[in-house]
Amino acid sequence: MAEERSDGGPHRVLILGRPGAGKGTQGIRLAEVLGVPHISTGDIFREAMTTGTLLGRDVAAYLERGRLVPDPLVIRALESRLEEDDARTRGFVLDGFPRTVAQAEALECLVAPERISRAVELVLTEREATQRLLTRFVCAECGHTVPRPVDGGRQADRACARCGGALLRRADDDLPAIQRRLEEFERATRPLLEWLDLRGLLVTVDADRPPDVVAASVLDAIEPFSDQSFSR
Ligand code: AMP
Repeated sequence: MAEERSDGGPHRVLILGRPGAGKGTQGIRLAEVLGVPHISTGDIFREAMTTGTLLGRDVAAYLERGRLVPDPLVIRALESRLEEDDARTRGFVLDGFPRTVAQAEALECLVAPERISRAVELVLTEREATQRLLTRFVCAECGHTVPRPVDGGRQADRACARCGGALLRRADDDLPAIQRRLEEFERATRPLLEWLDLRGLLVTVDADRPPDVVAASVLDAIEPFSDQSFSR
């Protein structure tokens, strides 16, 4: 059963953090618990690139180089997703959006007169984030992320434990793109964290812990639930 917000309203939660901090892993888990769609702008772009749509062609060069997609393009893509029924009626967990103050301002307008309920920053050092990105595999179907096995086995040949999809290395998980993505985070997203903090929306969670422990802290950070409805 989905977790209710203590005031009964839909959850509209943002998951932020450096590339590699675990936004996808935690965002998917949180959305499942809250019973809301998990919406990732990165996933929307990768899907558009795979299917060869106009959006896919417009954003490909940015993703390949680890650069942020220009705000107007991202905002348009997100806007059409938020217009779908599930997001309008149930709320959402947004993973990877917003990444700039301009995107956050646009989001405020898109959800008005409703409001963002919480922004959770997953905190991880640059060094640890780089290490994770250089070794992770991601399921092409469901986005589940797994670290490279210590025995050096051929993880890419194995299937996702959750859905059986193919486990692949992401094209932008190579060192030059990782470095650019980390720079973009400092340049564009760091000011957004301050902006969210000033509005009293930001909570931070130490992401340098096992996924289950991080997930429990993320749940704690999402507004007080009533004791009865809160179960892990
Ligand atoms: P992610 O899957 O969140 O790591 O995003 C992968 C890539 O998609 C990023 O490196 C950017 O090129 C692009 N991207 C995703 N979300 C955004 C956003 N909100 N603003 C700008 N670019 C984005």
